[in-house]
Amino acid sequence: MDPYTLYTLLTLASVGKAGLILLVAPQYPRRITRGMHSWALGGLMMGMNFALFVLAARALVPESVALGGAVTLGIGGTILVFVAVQELRERFYSKFVLLGVFVFTAVSNAYTLYAGHNKLRIITNSALAAAVFFMISYALLRSAPPSGRSIYRVTGVLALTISVVLAIRAVNPLILGSPIVHPMDENWVQQLTYSAILIGNVLGSLCFGLIVAEELNAELHQLASFDSLTRIYNRRVFENLATEELLRARTKREPVSLLMIDIDHFKQVNDSHGHAAGDAALVRVAETMEESLRHRDLFCRYGGEEFGVLLPSTAQEQAQRIADRLRLAMMHAGFRYGEEDIPLTVSIGVACIDRPPYDLSLIKHNADRALYLAKQTGRNRVAVV
Ligand code: GH3
Ligand code: MG
Ligand code: MG
Repeated sequence: MDPYTLYTLLTLASVGKAGLILLVAPQYPRRITRGMHSWALGGLMMGMNFALFVLAARALVPESVALGGAVTLGIGGTILVFVAVQELRERFYSKFVLLGVFVFTAVSNAYTLYAGHNKLRIITNSALAAAVFFMISYALLRSAPPSGRSIYRVTGVLALTISVVLAIRAVNPLILGSPIVHPMDENWVQQLTYSAILIGNVLGSLCFGLIVAEELNAELHQLASFDSLTRIYNRRVFENLATEELLRARTKREPVSLLMIDIDHFKQVNDSHGHAAGDAALVRVAETMEESLRHRDLFCRYGGEEFGVLLPSTAQEQAQRIADRLRLAMMHAGFRYGEEDIPLTVSIGVACIDRPPYDLSLIKHNADRALYLAKQTGRNRVAVV
């Protein structure tokens, strides 16, 4: 197969790859869709390199335009891969700066090609590409989420390797007896560069697919574990974690306390101010409670306007003090919806287990009884059974 048939096929393959990603991307959550779009467009830009070489070979485009265009598209595509990573991780990036790098690449290629500064052109392009790959690797290695860390690491190291190879290419006049002055020069730095880019392209596609799978997995985990309104644990996850904590407490013979928290007269908030105000109030209560709790405490929305807090290694008296602190924090936090101040208070039932059976349903039952007592005795108070 002659090189130009190969380039034509590579062009078609990259168009097909981008088309496929753009076709399936809308079915993913928004941030993943956006990341996939940027990545597909980046891949398409890189693929257009090959198209330019085909056009140049058929004398449809002057060779210098093809050379400059190919590098500019290649660096532009790499910038879009960086954008894709930032979008997936919901991180900031400056469109202005990135566009500036792209325009600088185009202008510097036009100038160096026009003026015939081939060595300077290769040095500048290699340094720019190394910098963009370094940014990709930094974004991947820095933003690795707790789950799926390895795929971020592997991809980050891959990008770092390419960045190092390109950096070597940028300083090639210092290390090579016969430096690269033309992209078709045959020497080890040039071969290393092309090998790294080719392998990086193939492995990079696979890695990106795995990252998308990982992000989707994390999204589903988030949906299944957290309450969508208040962003705290839902009852299912809370009960699983609380059961584990009780097992640990049984082994260590430590006390564990449970607080059941219920908003007072919450129905009135909905009735007088509307359901949206009620939703905002729930978020406010969750935030206020979370701010006052320790890192180890388990906090969840049990359902409706009821919250649960499991306090590990906490005896009854201390739990009572914590409950009262939460109650006061809520009373003083205040809640403003639109133009109106809406009073929000909570009643809290406290139960403690310090001897077997360390049973979740038992402690829950006791905390519910205590909560009922707090409501009966006037609300905005803490009760213990
Ligand atoms: P008490 O002091 O006895 O707890 O009175 P209450 O009005 O808070 O209690 P009740 O259980 O009668 O009312 C709870 C209300 O919480 C009823 C329900 O419409 C409302 N609610 C439950 N979940 C949500 C929600 O997600 N959003 C909103 N806005 N309201 C909710
Ligand atoms: Mg209730
Ligand atoms: Mg209530």
